[in-house]
Amino acid sequence: MWDVVIVGGGMVGASLALALQPLQLKVALIEAVAFGSRSQPAYDDRSVALSYGSSLIYQGMGIWQQLKTQVAPIKQIHVSDRGYFGATRIKAEQESVPALGYVVENRVLGQVFFDALAVGQLEIISPATVYELEQKPDYVEVKIERQGLVDSLQSKLLVIADGAKSPLREQLGIEVKERDYQQTAIIANVSTDQPVQGIAYERFTSSGPLALLPLTQERYSLVWTHKTTEVEASLNLSETEFLQKLQQTFGYRQGRFIKIGKRSSYPLSLVKAAAEVQGRAVLIGNASHTLHPVAGQGLNLALRDVAALSDLLAMQAQQHSDCGAAEVLAVYQAARQADYRRVIAYTDSLVRLFSTDSTLLGHARAGGLLAVDRIAPLRKLLTQQSMGLGLRQARLARGLALRS
Ligand SMILES: Cc1cc2nc3c(=O)[nH]c(=O)nc-3n(C[C@H](O)[C@H](O)[C@H](O)COP(=O)(O)OP(=O)(O)OC[C@H]3O[C@@H](n4cnc5c(N)ncnc54)[C@H](O)[C@@H]3O)c2cc1C
Repeated sequence: MWDVVIVGGGMVGASLALALQPLQLKVALIEAVAFGSRSQPAYDDRSVALSYGSSLIYQGMGIWQQLKTQVAPIKQIHVSDRGYFGATRIKAEQESVPALGYVVENRVLGQVFFDALAVGQLEIISPATVYELEQKPDYVEVKIERQGLVDSLQSKLLVIADGAKSPLREQLGIEVKERDYQQTAIIANVSTDQPVQGIAYERFTSSGPLALLPLTQERYSLVWTHKTTEVEASLNLSETEFLQKLQQTFGYRQGRFIKIGKRSSYPLSLVKAAAEVQGRAVLIGNASHTLHPVAGQGLNLALRDVAALSDLLAMQAQQHSDCGAAEVLAVYQAARQADYRRVIAYTDSLVRLFSTDSTLLGHARAGGLLAVDRIAPLRKLLTQQSMGLGLRQARLARGLALRS
């Protein structure tokens, strides 16, 4: 009997596995694609902006030392609206922190997870796919398929981190609310003829937001949201044509764009599960909430799930109690609601307000950006959200290791 079985070794499932590593618990991580291989799509060429709060969580998990040499710090965030006056700047020194956040390539993060998980006592079952689950009063049983062979495992708690489509969420009969934004993000790494100076740019355009995040090796990670109907045309442009279009849209505040890597695209929608807990199963990460990347909140939100859940599991481990006990999961679910509501409202309203061609709304949002710059509480909200701080914090979220 396992204490915790985690399905999905993407960034969220692997982070939870790492968080639980120091605890006296029997934990298994099941991942469909060979864990640590270059073919795992969760660890592709994308980059992720980790909030300052998330860096503290990784510090608590003991992997920040390995990560910190491979991340690019965000010293300043510059938010602007194409065609309208008004920009907001948030600076790390004003907030008295070393950086507002850090940008890291998913592939790098995957390698750090893989190395750290390889030395622990946790069992990684991969490549293996969970195809069925059954809830019993005292445990959950999962059926797995591993290289043509089937097997079953029993666990006190099942954590489902199998991504936005989550077949296991569907098996549990948990409904989702979904909003297709009709937008698709094109991502690529780009370079300009000016040195990268730790500024993250968020520029709102009529087709959607464009983010340029500082990366290591004098590169930027570009996340450029397009109307889905227009994405194919942009992907088909030659490199030179694409860079010209980017230059036109972004302007020259960071110099001339001179180089671009491979372009990939990701359709964007909001997915919200009707419940995060059912019986002895918990949904985390994209399986419970998939967000538009406009404000870089998806992984950061999920890491606060990881911190809250592992805090409770550390307590259960200390007391040799049931990890899947209904009262523990009820506490977890209740504790996370305010954060979900706040982050979803923030992200969704940014997308809707800033993805319109309406001139009237354009003036309103320009006014909004100016207002954010001048009105202290609004500015504080934007800053705290970007930094991933603000709510009552679990042990890991304060950068402290877990003990059992
Ligand atoms: C363009 C873009 C930019 C983004 N930028 C940011 C950012 O800057 N900051 C931020 O915080 N977030 C960002 N995000 C969001 C972030 O990428 C997601 O929050 C995160 O990847 C979710 O990870 P996950 O582990 O929940 O899901 P996934 O990455 O989908 O992982 C799920 C895993 O489960 C495995 N799996 C599925 N089914 C099974 C099964 N039955 N059995 C076993 N294994 C299974 C899959 O193989 C996969 O490895 C961005 C997203 C996009 C699209």
